[in-house]
Amino acid sequence: MTYDFVVIGAGISGLTTALILARHGRSVALVEKAPEIAPLLRGFSRSGAHFETGFHYAGGLDEEGILTRFFRYLEIADEVETTPFSGSCFDRLRYPGGDEFHFPVGYDALNAALCEAFPAAAGEITAYLDLVQSACSTLPYLNLDADFGALGPFGALQGPTLAEVLTRGISPPALRRLLALHTLLHGVPAAEVPFALHASVVGLYYRSAHGIRGGGKQLAEVLARQLAARGISIFCGSRALALQWDAAGALEGVLTDRHDLLRSRNCVSSLHPRSFLDLVGAAALRPAYRKRLLGLAETCSGYLGFFTARRPVPLLAGSNLYLAGKAEGDARSPGMPMEDRLLYLAGGATDDGSGPHALVAICPADVAETSAWADSRHGGRPGAYRQFKAEMMARMQARIEEEVPELQGALTLRAGATPLTLRHYLGHPGGGLYGVGHRVGQYNPQAATRLPGVFLTGQATAAPGLLGGMLSGFLTCGEILGHDRLRMEVKRCAH
Ligand SMILES: Cc1cc2nc3c(=O)[nH]c(=O)nc-3n(C[C@H](O)[C@H](O)[C@H](O)COP(=O)(O)OP(=O)(O)OC[C@H]3O[C@@H](n4cnc5c(N)ncnc54)[C@H](O)[C@@H]3O)c2cc1C
Repeated sequence: MTYDFVVIGAGISGLTTALILARHGRSVALVEKAPEIAPLLRGFSRSGAHFETGFHYAGGLDEEGILTRFFRYLEIADEVETTPFSGSCFDRLRYPGGDEFHFPVGYDALNAALCEAFPAAAGEITAYLDLVQSACSTLPYLNLDADFGALGPFGALQGPTLAEVLTRGISPPALRRLLALHTLLHGVPAAEVPFALHASVVGLYYRSAHGIRGGGKQLAEVLARQLAARGISIFCGSRALALQWDAAGALEGVLTDRHDLLRSRNCVSSLHPRSFLDLVGAAALRPAYRKRLLGLAETCSGYLGFFTARRPVPLLAGSNLYLAGKAEGDARSPGMPMEDRLLYLAGGATDDGSGPHALVAICPADVAETSAWADSRHGGRPGAYRQFKAEMMARMQARIEEEVPELQGALTLRAGATPLTLRHYLGHPGGGLYGVGHRVGQYNPQAATRLPGVFLTGQATAAPGLLGGMLSGFLTCGEILGHDRLRMEVKRCAH
């Protein structure tokens, strides 16, 4: 069989791409190296508890939200039940010593809460939030009516940076730091991230914050049913090894380690750009383009602790907890003690209060912290690494129990991850939580490549997260099918 398209990688970006193409009558083969689709969204189970990995919460899932509209377009909205986070506190920031700031849902409520905490900066706060709102739809498809501008839909997101906007507009340093808290949602420090990208990602959370009943696993299962309904051929447990070209230089198909050649004249890769380079081989691309892809900097990495709590954790029901630490600036700097960094805590989406009570902790990190073992392989890492990892997990647990008295004496560590674990499971050479980041001065790849029939999608092209992944699928399919047509179809999916 010859397919119209082979989509490589069945994360949210590849899944969105495959479903849009199939909806337009294209025959699609989807290749995924993991045993099931959407491994990052699915999470994993251990000791009777289910742990979320790649999805905890999202903005844009309200009735009018863009993700809801994408869900409707993909015909999964009726099967995905979203759960609103607490309106008065979807994110709780706790400072050392116990003071807290609560992020309420909605711009007016957030404005009021920030003005109450920093009354002398009330004017600055209102002006800043207005800026966020107006920049919120900078990314194409977030605002379906926006002109793509001279640079086109993948036009480089350039300055100013978030830090520049904050320095210019916000006087109290503590308020600047508070407003930069959510850089963890895209993994690029305030001094480097384009303000427009930060606003497009974080601004949606300011408007609404939702989880999904059953978590990322439920979303993965709904997507799997939709793939079947659309007749998409799924090759799981199948690693794409190379793109194969015929004698005339046209794409012949995708070679995999299980199913030989999947024949097609077109393919979309949702992989990390470096993995894409491995697929195409050295000769196929211009050296300048290769160099550009190789030079793309990754987002922050992290230490992840997966815990169960012996008692219910009301603190994490419909709300996340961020421990501020003492760090100023980029909280992932190697050398900074873990205890001083930001630490994010989220409850389990499947925790109905009857237990077991799963919770996940994420502390930003740099892959350089594990460089001593960079050449070791997953499953065969040396004892020194295992000891390092155990120490980091013990320190994480000790910190949580000290700064979160609600969890004191209640936690059991069930699994842990370091930047090297993330490098292995996510396939990101820098162990980045979100792969390649978006930075001022960096030119991320676009959907179309110079290779006929070969396209890119994924978080490196558009933005990170569930939103960024889906957005990248729409952007890539817009290049293939026509943006005007696709945007018109998405617009029709208003409730
Ligand atoms: C710890 C963590 C927490 C997160 N929390 C949130 C959150 O709360 N909210 C949110 O919106 N986002 C969150 N994210 C981000 C979000 O999960 C990702 O941005 C998104 O899932 C990325 O989707 P993707 O399709 O671009 O990439 P991926 O999901 O990485 O998809 C790429 C796929 O390609 C497969 N693959 C790789 N190589 C090959 C090959 N050679 N052949 C075949 N298949 C291959 C991989 O197995 C993978 O399934 C989180 C991420 C992490 C790591």
